[in-house]
Amino acid sequence: MLMHAKAGNSAAILDGKAVAARVRTEVAEKVRAFSAAHGRVPGLAVVQVGHNAASSVYVRNKKKACAEAGIESFSFDPPETVTRQELLGLVELLNKDSRVDGILVQLPLPEGLDANEIMDAIDPSKDVDGFHPTNTGLLAQKRPLLRPCTPFGVIRLAQEYGIKLAGTRSTVVGASNIVGRPMALELLLAGSTVTVCHSRTRDLPSEVARADIVVAAIGKPEMIKGAWIAEGAAVFDVGMNRLDSGRLVGDVEFTAASQRAGWITPVPGGVGPMTIAMLLSNTMDSALRRAAG
Ligand code: NDP
Repeated sequence: MLMHAKAGNSAAILDGKAVAARVRTEVAEKVRAFSAAHGRVPGLAVVQVGHNAASSVYVRNKKKACAEAGIESFSFDPPETVTRQELLGLVELLNKDSRVDGILVQLPLPEGLDANEIMDAIDPSKDVDGFHPTNTGLLAQKRPLLRPCTPFGVIRLAQEYGIKLAGTRSTVVGASNIVGRPMALELLLAGSTVTVCHSRTRDLPSEVARADIVVAAIGKPEMIKGAWIAEGAAVFDVGMNRLDSGRLVGDVEFTAASQRAGWITPVPGGVGPMTIAMLLSNTMDSALRRAAG
């Protein structure tokens, strides 16, 4: 466990890069043991439809991380003109392929394709993104199987730094299916008393101010002001916003928040690296579960 005392008036920085590296090393060790026991390595199928530039960067990083951990990745790059039936057919093939332990369909999908329909077609036992309604439902019912990578990464980061979650008050800002909602379920599972905020929340500053744990997942640069943060709170900034200057910033006003928080994640180098690490971890877990029958 990494324990950092708050130095003076400045928050301890939660080093997602370092913790992610540790998770990836752990996965690589498990991959070696798995390969020795089963004569194959875990496999992740990565489907990217069309040519979204941002998606290409994410996909490249995911494949590189797989290779470093010893996980085999299988790439599928159907063109933007792929039909719904063709894409569903591909998912079905991957569901049946015994070399594939995880299936990832990179979002967003081009217009005209219903992301929900495609994601729902993925075998829940191979849904390493954790977006399938079955996996969301299992998390909601306190029996998680494959957990959405970003929220799961936040929980792992908190654990690594010894940040207590049980008995705390937490505020999650953002209620999307892929980050905010599952984040709230994760924190609830961890024993926190959770408030979820969204665009219609009436008094966001007060909701943030009474939280011991703040998770920001909005997609608006530095929207959460440092002055709102309670003294000593742990702040997890999921937001990734590219400014016109090219600089990447989070959803939290980092410098001002650091003066009040006890712990804070930087952007970049905080939650982002954890997301990919947890994807590898989920793929490894899926392979082990499938091998155990
Ligand atoms: P979405 O756009 O799907 O969701 C944004 C959420 O923020 C919605 O629930 C929305 O409310 C809420 N919101 C918007 N405006 C306000 C406001 N003024 N006050 C309070 N809440 C507001 O985004 P995602 O969840 O997909 O992503 C959020 C951010 O996280 C983005 O910056 C994204 O790039 C980043 N991200 C980072 C990852 C990582 O690995 N670090 C992984 C995934 C995402 P409503 O529901 O009412 O519309």
